[in-house]
Amino acid sequence: MASTVTLEKMMRSPRTMTIQSGDDIDVGSPRTLRSPLLMKGRKVGGGGEDVVTDKCCGHKKCELVSYDKLPEFLKHNEFIVDYYRSEWPIKEALLSAFSIHNETINVWTHLIGFFVFLALTVCAATMVPMEYEASHNLATSTGLANITGNAMVLRSYYNADNGAVVVAMKVLRNVSVETDIAAAAAAALSAPGHRVARWPFYAYLCGAMFCLLMSSACHLLACHSEHASYVFLRLDYAGITGLIVTSFYPLVYYTFLCDPFYQALYLGFITASGAAAVAVSLLPVFERPELRWARAGLFACMGMSGLVPIVHKMLVFGARPEAVLTTGYEMAMGAFYLAGVVVYATRVPERWIPGRFDLAGHSHQLFHVLVIAGAYAHYLAGLVYLGWRDMDGC
Ligand SMILES: [Zn+2]
Repeated sequence: MASTVTLEKMMRSPRTMTIQSGDDIDVGSPRTLRSPLLMKGRKVGGGGEDVVTDKCCGHKKCELVSYDKLPEFLKHNEFIVDYYRSEWPIKEALLSAFSIHNETINVWTHLIGFFVFLALTVCAATMVPMEYEASHNLATSTGLANITGNAMVLRSYYNADNGAVVVAMKVLRNVSVETDIAAAAAAALSAPGHRVARWPFYAYLCGAMFCLLMSSACHLLACHSEHASYVFLRLDYAGITGLIVTSFYPLVYYTFLCDPFYQALYLGFITASGAAAVAVSLLPVFERPELRWARAGLFACMGMSGLVPIVHKMLVFGARPEAVLTTGYEMAMGAFYLAGVVVYATRVPERWIPGRFDLAGHSHQLFHVLVIAGAYAHYLAGLVYLGWRDMDGC
């Protein structure tokens, strides 16, 4: 009817408008009502007048729109039909982390993942202490930590020669009796007594946290403007590259601890590949929707190149339980990442029923969960590497 004032019109209108009593107010589609931000500027006045003020976003509209109303730079997936934020001011985009739209779960899956990895980093630092008070040169303690059905024996002692305090750690599989623990402690007592460098392990944890944080920020803020979209997508790609590159560091550094040539070769190769991938991702053409497979392929190839040092590890150390265990975790990681890449590139399940998975269950959310699962498997491998090299040294 002629007197109907839609919420969309209100947003476009001057900052304050008066609606005559008795007029109908069509507040738009159900999706419009779902966002608390949209209701913030709506005020009901007294004296028979309804006064509506669009304070929520200043001169910008803050309503969820459908795919066909998006500017080109926000059109990434036509199978997600609705609930988009388009060119929202930065403050409202930030606050939208707490409202429902088609990126809410994408933001939170990786933000929660970031905090999980922060906790894992603290956990690792605590479990393998950086310093330990000791007053003699004999073993002072053993400890046990259950990690996915394995056991880890920690032992610290004071080295009388140089005053250093060291921690030795041994990982056992399926430890269930005290004699196994005692045997591990005895083995620790005869260990060379050094502590391998931690930086490759922490570089990996930092890479994982950077990736998760950048991804979360990208999903939250890329809707702000074309420039913001360009910057945050590059940070997102850089984060993925950083995760892949730093995933190699524990694998290569600890496996080839005694072989500086291969250690430098593999670390140099993956670092150079990562730098090249970041450079390629800076090209504007890189984010075009039709290049989805090219993007997935580039990151998949980088990840697959990890097979070379893994096969090399098994050829040299195949008889060692630590090598077998870490390879198992690395295969699990590869399987999660591969599944993630396939889901990302095929856009399953939303392509089967467009619009059905707009808010929950679409491919990118599944991809995020698979990335976290893969990164966690690699964290477990990192713990085993530390135990292996702390015990054996070079
Ligand atoms: Zn993402």
